[in-house]
Amino acid sequence: MRGTSSPRAEVVVNLEAVRHNVRLLASRAARSGAETMVVVKADGYGHGAAPVARAALDAGATWLGVASVEEALALREAGFTARVLSWLDTPAADFDAAVTHDIDLSVSSAGELARVVGAAARAGCRARVHLKIDTGLSRNGCPPDLWPALVKAAAAEDAIEVVGMWSHLACADEPGHSSVDAQAERFAAAHAVAIDAGLSPLRHLANSAATLTRPDLHFDLVRPGIAVYGLNPVPQSEDLTPAMTFRSSVVLTKRVSAGESVSYGHTWTASADTTLALVPVGYADGVPRTLSGRLSVWLDGSRRPVAGRVCMDQLVVDCGDHEPDVGAEVVLFTTGEGGTPTATDWANTIGTIDYEIVTGMYRPRVRRRYV
Ligand code: PLP
Repeated sequence: MRGTSSPRAEVVVNLEAVRHNVRLLASRAARSGAETMVVVKADGYGHGAAPVARAALDAGATWLGVASVEEALALREAGFTARVLSWLDTPAADFDAAVTHDIDLSVSSAGELARVVGAAARAGCRARVHLKIDTGLSRNGCPPDLWPALVKAAAAEDAIEVVGMWSHLACADEPGHSSVDAQAERFAAAHAVAIDAGLSPLRHLANSAATLTRPDLHFDLVRPGIAVYGLNPVPQSEDLTPAMTFRSSVVLTKRVSAGESVSYGHTWTASADTTLALVPVGYADGVPRTLSGRLSVWLDGSRRPVAGRVCMDQLVVDCGDHEPDVGAEVVLFTTGEGGTPTATDWANTIGTIDYEIVTGMYRPRVRRRYV
């Protein structure tokens, strides 16, 4: 794991891991006759949208999914010509640019439909639309009672082509949860309405968890996000490889005597003489302060506890009688192989999800490197 230099704070993204994960997901989808849309919103869940998209398309994905028109246009500017779906835009979003740049757009309401129709008319080309039905997540998506009218209005519009219909699952990461089947039933009913209206849209419903556990819900397209990055949303073991490593290095070591206290608030006191290693990363670099007292790092082949509070720019590792070199690599989280810490460990410790940990790693001060 030793790097070419000793970074202050660095995220290393393993694109071969991304390719491996996408091959696994895309082969599952292909067995059901489905294509794979890789979700690269939020700058590729903190891993970098463009490099991840490139790796994912190399590995068999055919679509890219993002939350906003801005994210979609950034992919076009980076040279991507693959199909891109954008699904959560404000009325102020630049739909004109989206239509001109061949972005597929999600539509959940009559208002959104009108905005996309207007943009298509101005652009002088047909907009590709995916109608979104709310099957029970109760976020965006058309409520079932308004669905027939939305479908009818969309089917009557020459300025758009309804290429897809879709929805999003609330509890797919809890296999067996009754809401998944309830949502699937509403999705089937909504599809029947679309067929009756003369449409034959692609259907997509499955996130990572459903891609891995519910082949019956793959339909025409799956939309995995977190599993692309090697983090497993379902309890069962899968051959996924976490793509992100967060590392830093030792900048100073010092020996302290039993009874000396460390960091703000003196919440930790050495119980014996010990060596402390100073590591120049803190909560401004993505190490949650709430991990104070519960964090360990990988240093010279072992997990070693962090002493006292995580500060804005630094933390202190208790090395006992081990004396690390200045410049020695410190791994904050990585794949878990050999007992190394993971982003999922962090999430479990502080009561959140690993999605939040990795998406939180996009910070100007943290160098990002691809291997
Ligand atoms: N589809 C939609 C609409 C999403 O918002 C997301 C992520 O939140 C995904 C798919 C991918 O979900 P996951 O990362 O759980 O695979």
